[in-house]
Amino acid sequence: MTHYPDLSPYEYSESRVPMVNVGWLGPPHDFPTGPAPDGLAEALWRMGKRPRNRMRGFHVCEFCDGRREFGDLPLANGEIHVDADGVRYSAPVLVGHYVRDHHYLPPRVFVDAVLEHDLKGRRSTRRVLRAAGWEQGRSVDTSAWRRAFPGLGWHDAAEEFLAEFGGLTVRGREVVDLDPMRCTGAADRFVQWHKTFREAFPVGVTGDHFLAVDSLGEVRAFSDHGIRRIGPGSAALLLLSEGAHLHDSDD
Ligand SMILES: [Zn+2]
Repeated sequence: MTHYPDLSPYEYSESRVPMVNVGWLGPPHDFPTGPAPDGLAEALWRMGKRPRNRMRGFHVCEFCDGRREFGDLPLANGEIHVDADGVRYSAPVLVGHYVRDHHYLPPRVFVDAVLEHDLKGRRSTRRVLRAAGWEQGRSVDTSAWRRAFPGLGWHDAAEEFLAEFGGLTVRGREVVDLDPMRCTGAADRFVQWHKTFREAFPVGVTGDHFLAVDSLGEVRAFSDHGIRRIGPGSAALLLLSEGAHLHDSDD
């Protein structure tokens, strides 16, 4: 992948705010290393699952030997954007991997912006869920939902997700109804989705989208227009309530 020095201006940007590069690493260029603050790699990993611009094409890690799997990261076309003090930082989706596995230490301004962004995200997730009646340790009986779809395999991720969130209605810009029974009319389509998308199991609806959680705990939204990966558990619910499944734009 192309190398850009940290904090260099991001060219070709059509963004309304100035954008600068962070974490566009590539041999033979050296990069700063050091112990990362707690939670940084995880926060970057979460953000990498929901990339923004896709202008810079497909990237692989050039520091790892051979081909490397990145589990649930979309490989690897796109950027993470985070705003702070009127500047937008753009990093590749692999930046979480660079921090975790290559001990890359990004510039302090970027680190602070990411941690702040992550904290705010988790706080607003909790606020939205509490308003829906969720509380820490919530656990409801899932057996009726399991029985409602005899053609689909049940898995731990479905159990975990529905025990915690099943039956809630999350209201934001969009209404997310976490009642799997609303998917029974689409049971036939779910048989195919279940096969194709890591045992996607129905968990509810929002608008004209069916929602499912797969065996790795990732939520997907299915509609006639396509299939969107939303993200893991509670973070996905916030994104859905904000309508993230309806648009693809940056702002
Ligand atoms: Zn690597």
